[in-house]
Amino acid sequence: MKMLLEVDAINTFYGPSQAIHDVSFGVAQSEVVALLGRNGAGKSTTLRSIMGLNGAASGRIRYGDRDITRMSPQAIARLGLTLVPETRDPFVLLTVRENIMLGYRPGSPYTLDRLMDLFPLLRELLKKKGGELSGGQQQMMVMARGLAMGPRLLLLDEPSQGLAPIMVKAVASVLKQLKGDGLTILLVEQNLNMALDIADRVVVMENGAVADTFDSATGRAEPARLEQYLAVH
Ligand code: ATP
Repeated sequence: MKMLLEVDAINTFYGPSQAIHDVSFGVAQSEVVALLGRNGAGKSTTLRSIMGLNGAASGRIRYGDRDITRMSPQAIARLGLTLVPETRDPFVLLTVRENIMLGYRPGSPYTLDRLMDLFPLLRELLKKKGGELSGGQQQMMVMARGLAMGPRLLLLDEPSQGLAPIMVKAVASVLKQLKGDGLTILLVEQNLNMALDIADRVVVMENGAVADTFDSATGRAEPARLEQYLAVH
């Protein structure tokens, strides 16, 4: 299968310490791939390497026909890759509408109207300040901002982290709708059930390396195979 994104044997460092070891995997057009693994396994760093924020010291990252390994984060974003980071980073003094529309690029299928259909909870909050929202509401807002950019590949870092169960459900429902739109998504998750529910394929990371890869149906049928990587020991 031809991959839209191809990560090929990348190694990434923070100063002298190596966080990512020979990581390889691909994401096909319209595929949803979940990166799973314990805290510190290297999932966020992998996303940051793809976006050029923590560039890979060696290896190759290809997007479509382009080699993006050494491109700037701005150039990578212009190609249609959008990262919604774990930190959420809302603009606390801007309104929710401003926070969302800051990302809007003409031509994006995710107009404010469409985003309000996807995130009905945000409709009532548009005039509030970003800093006044709960964690779950902020997560919705930063996802809406990312979508407003009209991404062709959406990278989501732990969208369910720290959210109440009802908000986790709401995020999962949005992701299913995005998948229905045919959007290509690389999702970092610690919530195994949510990842298996949404993703087509799962890539498991351990100690900065890829430990296993399988399709979600296999993961659902053989949960023990996955749980061994996620259990705390
Ligand atoms: P988490 O869910 O905790 O974010 P993760 O799987 O995303 O986990 P990373 O955040 O990518 O893991 O971390 C991978 C490794 O890199 C860890 O050993 C971590 O301590 C280290 N690391 C992450 N960020 C930095 C940094 N800014 N400086 C130095 N080391 C870092």
